[in-house]
Amino acid sequence: MSRAAIAELLRAGYGDRTIARQLNVTAATVTQTRRELGLPPARAGNKPAATVEELFWRRTRPIDGGHLEWTGHRSSKGVAAVKWQKTDHTARRIAYRIRHNTDPTGYAHAVCDYDGCVAPAHIADSATVPRKGRPGASRKPNGSRDQIVALLRQGHTDQAIRKALHTDAKRVARIRKEEGLPPAPQRIITFADKWAANTAPADDGHLRWTGRLRDGVTPSLVYRGREYSARRAAFEEHYRREPVGLVLPGCDWEPCVRPDHLEDRTIRQALTAQYDAIFGDQAA
Ligand SMILES: [Zn+2]
Ligand SMILES: [Zn+2]
Repeated sequence: MSRAAIAELLRAGYGDRTIARQLNVTAATVTQTRRELGLPPARAGNKPAATVEELFWRRTRPIDGGHLEWTGHRSSKGVAAVKWQKTDHTARRIAYRIRHNTDPTGYAHAVCDYDGCVAPAHIADSATVPRKGRPGASRKPNGSRDQIVALLRQGHTDQAIRKALHTDAKRVARIRKEEGLPPAPQRIITFADKWAANTAPADDGHLRWTGRLRDGVTPSLVYRGREYSARRAAFEEHYRREPVGLVLPGCDWEPCVRPDHLEDRTIRQALTAQYDAIFGDQAA
């Protein structure tokens, strides 16, 4: 993300966290840029949003993959929306305007696979990009009842079926109820799943990080909605304790993230003490 974009929003008076969300960078990056530019901190407290777009950014949370989750209000129909100057605006329309500087002709809809995404880059106008599973003006829902029942019996979640058949999750839920089927168990994403998805073996038994890098340097992963240093998280998982001080690879390969190659200050001090005990006298 360009420094210029951060600088522009800083000068416009936005708070660091709002800018971080908008540009998908960390708040620390924004704060550092603010310092480098010699700009004063944004006024603290609950300053009222200056624009409906600012309100939009305050009510979103970035998700891996450039998606944006809506954390704000939903209408009775489940549509992400904000009230601004006594009018309701849907989050998707605001997102579309942020990106295109104009209102969509048709419906604003997400073109990615993240359910409920409101990332401006992922929102399209149905007049130019047809909505998936909505050919023409047909209002007939996708997926036959039989197809839905079959998938329900196989134990899929409503959301998984919605995605598979490009149909409406509420309809799936209704059919589930009518068929007297219990809700599907939600698959829990474990740390091991996350770890496996973000690492790859490297030469000589080391492990390479393939996931995201915070500020372009530090391996980091979002797990249960929080951002962690990948090395700290791996250290904790492996040693079952919190690391003391910096966690660094103790092997000679700087990018390594292999859990049993990682050392915290306690381990480094213990190793130094052992080394001194063995070689200290000879060295002296
Ligand atoms: Zn998305
Ligand atoms: Zn290593």
